[in-house]
Amino acid sequence: MTRSAPGTTLGVVGGGQLGRMLAEAAAPLGIDLVVSDPTPDAPASPVAREQVVGDFDDPETIRAVAERSDYLTFEIELADPDAMERIAAETDTPVHPHPETLRTIQDKFVQKERLSEAGVPVPAYRAVDSVADLREALDDLGYPAMLKAREGGYDGRGNVPVESPDDVDAAFDAIEGPAMVEEFVDYARELAVIGCVGDGERDTFPVTETIHREEILRESVAPARTDEGVRERAREVALDVLDAMDGRGVYGIELFETTGGEILLNEIAPRPHNSGHWTIEGCHTSQFEQHARAVTGLPLGTTELRDPTVSANVLGDVEDRQPASVDGAADALATERLALHWYGKREVYRLRKMGHVTLVGAGDESRDDLLARVRGVRDGLTFGD
Ligand code: ADP
Repeated sequence: MTRSAPGTTLGVVGGGQLGRMLAEAAAPLGIDLVVSDPTPDAPASPVAREQVVGDFDDPETIRAVAERSDYLTFEIELADPDAMERIAAETDTPVHPHPETLRTIQDKFVQKERLSEAGVPVPAYRAVDSVADLREALDDLGYPAMLKAREGGYDGRGNVPVESPDDVDAAFDAIEGPAMVEEFVDYARELAVIGCVGDGERDTFPVTETIHREEILRESVAPARTDEGVRERAREVALDVLDAMDGRGVYGIELFETTGGEILLNEIAPRPHNSGHWTIEGCHTSQFEQHARAVTGLPLGTTELRDPTVSANVLGDVEDRQPASVDGAADALATERLALHWYGKREVYRLRKMGHVTLVGAGDESRDDLLARVRGVRDGLTFGD
């Protein structure tokens, strides 16, 4: 018998910060989490009912999670779709999103093929298996371009810009495994939409503007500072993406707004996404509560905005891996309408995502001003050396 909240247990492959925030959001619904992660005492561990220690692709670990759960999901793309599909069937545990969706998304080329077949606009792209392939593709696509590992990349690791024909050999050598190349998109800004698929319903959260540096998300601004028409188009594209996905849950949909005002899809994450952390304070339902609702078959909550909201990631600022101890938290917490989210990671290293801060707007403060203030608060959080 499949139970429903309160009293449901949700099994999650992965126990990082996404699992931690999912557990925090699921608790009021009466949904407890069992998570798995190879690192003992992972970020989700203190707030989950239980952590199973094991790899994301270890069948015995996935089985142990499924056996303790009414529903199964994942918070990391390294989860093994084949094992999840088999074990979900053997243990009669519904798994969402469907592992086939994860399989498609794990390969950036297959992902783009599937979405362009579904009519979603994407940058021009080609699969490339050799330097000769790459040169030929670039004759077509032109320079600059972005060469990408098809599998396993995250936070820009696995992406290499190719500026000119002189870069081709080195760029190809720098990529591990199968590769693809894309035209370099001349974008006005990057946008993201958190989409959600429930039981016979679907919705999107307000369109977010995402600001990256070194290909890592630094800040999110909601609603995005762009024309209403562009936001509406982003929402339409996101709904087309959701139609091409199989299974309930929340999807992070990364988009480019080109300088011509067009929307192109960059990539999808079949799970809550860093660009949606602001929804915890900024919307009536957070992306995490929505994911818990969607996966367990509950009605979706309203995605309505409460107030304009900005978030900034707190990234590790030290060169060498070391025990994490942060300075400046008290000052951050003294800021009105500011929320601090600490991920509980024991060690810090350069650019590791350690937490985030969110500021919810009041009165008529502009999003530019909110963004400047949240950056100030974030910059006051340091790890020292
Ligand atoms: P990851 O999977 O590592 O997050 P993405 O493919 O999403 O990598 O790329 C990370 C960032 O790199 C994007 O947010 C964007 O800033 C930049 N980027 C990726 N693809 C392109 C492209 N085709 N043109 C221009 N910039 C790109």
